Amino acid sequence: MAGGWSRDGAVQDQIDASVEDAVKLARSRLTDGQSLTHCEQCETAIPDARRKAMPGVRLCVSCQSELEKHQATPTGYNRRGSKDSQLR
Ligand SMILES: [Zn+2]
Repeated sequence: MAGGWSRDGAVQDQIDASVEDAVKLARSRLTDGQSLTHCEQCETAIPDARRKAMPGVRLCVSCQSELEKHQATPTGYNRRGSKDSQLR
């Protein structure tokens, strides 16, 4: 009556492998000074000069400026009501 049980360790090995893959993927997405030859967004070729000037650049000029425009926009602009009438 020998049971054909599978080794639990095999399952654990698979889990470890997929975690490792996720870590590898996460690492590969980091900008470690690697400039892209083409824009990540629109796949326009990024000029050599730009890639040298900005190590790790991933976007072309227009996508980058679009991004910066959005980043520069204050998101939590709190519009207060005028208190002038209460100032006496
Ligand atoms: Zn682009």
